[in-house]
Amino acid sequence: MAASPSRSRAGSAPATRRGDEHELRNYKLEARIGQDELATIYRARHLTLDRPVEVHILRRSDWISVSRFQQAARLAARLNHPAILPVIDAGYDDRYGYYLVTPPVSGQPLQALLEHAPLAPAVVLRIISQIARALDAIHELGIIHRDLQPATIVVAEEPQAEAAVGGAGQPGGGTQGEGPQRAYLANFSLAYSPDGPDLSQLDEADYLTPYAAPEQNFRDQEPTPALDIYALGAVLFHMLTGEVPPAPGQEIPSLARWNEALAPADRVLRRMLSPQPGLRYPSAGQAIAALRQALRDVVGPELPSVTAAFSPSPWPAPIAYPAEAVEAEWLENPTETILGDVIDPAFLQEGRTAAAQLHQIAPLRRLLDEWSRGNLLRRRQLGTTLQLVQVVSYTFYFYELRAYYETRTQPEVRERPHQGSRLSDRGAPPDIWSVELPATEHYVEVRPQEMAVPNSALVLACPRCSGEGQVICEPCSGRGTVEVSRAVQNPDGSKTRRTVNEDCSACSGEGGNPCPRCQGTGQLYQEQVFQWSRWAKIWENTDDEEGLPLQDIRRRARQVYKGVIAIDDPRWHAVAPLHELLEAATKVDAEEQTRLLHAELTIYGTFVSEVDYNERSRLHTLYLIGLHPPTVRGDATIFDKERLIIGLAALVALLVTFAILLL
Ligand SMILES: [Zn+2]
Ligand SMILES: [Zn+2]
Repeated sequence: MAASPSRSRAGSAPATRRGDEHELRNYKLEARIGQDELATIYRARHLTLDRPVEVHILRRSDWISVSRFQQAARLAARLNHPAILPVIDAGYDDRYGYYLVTPPVSGQPLQALLEHAPLAPAVVLRIISQIARALDAIHELGIIHRDLQPATIVVAEEPQAEAAVGGAGQPGGGTQGEGPQRAYLANFSLAYSPDGPDLSQLDEADYLTPYAAPEQNFRDQEPTPALDIYALGAVLFHMLTGEVPPAPGQEIPSLARWNEALAPADRVLRRMLSPQPGLRYPSAGQAIAALRQALRDVVGPELPSVTAAFSPSPWPAPIAYPAEAVEAEWLENPTETILGDVIDPAFLQEGRTAAAQLHQIAPLRRLLDEWSRGNLLRRRQLGTTLQLVQVVSYTFYFYELRAYYETRTQPEVRERPHQGSRLSDRGAPPDIWSVELPATEHYVEVRPQEMAVPNSALVLACPRCSGEGQVICEPCSGRGTVEVSRAVQNPDGSKTRRTVNEDCSACSGEGGNPCPRCQGTGQLYQEQVFQWSRWAKIWENTDDEEGLPLQDIRRRARQVYKGVIAIDDPRWHAVAPLHELLEAATKVDAEEQTRLLHAELTIYGTFVSEVDYNERSRLHTLYLIGLHPPTVRGDATIFDKERLIIGLAALVALLVTFAILLL
């Protein structure tokens, strides 16, 4: 329907027609309250039922506007969802032309709410969760909205007091006192549906907004839900920061720039806004479950109201326990999205089966009750007593790369004395990396060894002695004799000093010595020599571990992949933690003296369920790690306080008794 863009609510200027001219079929038009791109909106009343409605009258007559208007009406009428503004009537009137009728919404476009400041995280979660549910519902029917933006989301601040015309799914029909924000996905006039009109003639430039995914166009005959997931991320960014998101391809700034506490949501936003559609969340619901998890500390006890605003629970009503509305979601790890076909299928299947089980309330409570019975210090009937809020399950991955490197140092000149003929020219020496080295088994360490560069040898006249083989003796400067002062005894017994010449002892009177550099040969043999070695190193990385009980998760991990990988294959680099690992493993040495010969990747995975519950107005998290049975980790609230105190007291008493006995 045509509720927005720029649904500007003008004042209640009454329609200026008189008498029956205010009437359109069964509706009495009362006041013009706004207009959007396609339609003028009137506050009106249903004449027979005397109920308030809004009538949208198409104000353009070109065929593409008419078909968009009709498409919007048809789709909205078909969709019965609490977060989709329904169309309760539509048609053609001789005087007014095409029109459609919606229940009145005492709300405003999200755009108007965003004009002044970012919204509080709890409000953001409430709005975005409802819109995400609506998106998942339309995606299931093969419909892509293609125009999600703050102008096409209507936020009603208060529930509608007066029931509107129309049946189920009417907006604002909720109970009084519910969460203050009800959000509606509106305006399906650019939506794609398999049986919809062809909008490929649209001039895209007129319709692409800053919230549109980079791959969006209107010619695409099979757009995917990833388009709407991107736009949802862009709207989310705007709500959290108060600023329009950066254009696709530009770096997404950390939310910490606006609010430190929002930083955990960075990775959720980056995945939603990934330029590659395949890397975004597979569904809007998964994206929002990840967001709720990231923001739970900042939103705290207000988190449950997100659920409260949403009565249809994905959990079947339990038999043994009271009905509850708890959000439960499987979060597909990006690694699974990208590498789903290399990870052990049995492992993936097992995780999903376990999640399906734990996402039903009764088995989850039973499992926790059983855990309670396992130890006296654990809180009795933990499962039954917890006030559950949400459950998300996912696999946590560890990545281990065993890398085998070879180092070849820059060659250095080695020389030795040479006797004999000169060498004939055998061409230029090769690059050291093309020199063939002995083969070894992978991962066997080779200590540094020398290797001559082929064709690098040459014979030259010794520069020290100019090829003579002899150098002038330094002590005698080549004379062969040195002057020595000596005391001589005269016949009368007195002594005098005389200077006499003696043979030079350094050269035995020769005046020269064999050249030390060429050892008298007059020639040098020079060649280039480098050192080579081979060594292995293990590199490790994990998925984002912030706040997780990593030790337990590591302990319960299972190997799910092992293989030799081509380190440049872009596929591995598409997984963020693996990309970091590969980057580190390939940049071991800035001088590029080291190359990677062989790399073997091992991936380990652990199934994790996070169970959030409310206790004394605070949100707590309990982790179920691994399966059959899982390791349970949580804060003090999962233990029995009284028994802990009694246990401690008993221990102290015991120690005191011992002390007394020993004394
Ligand atoms: Zn020499
Ligand atoms: Zn000498």
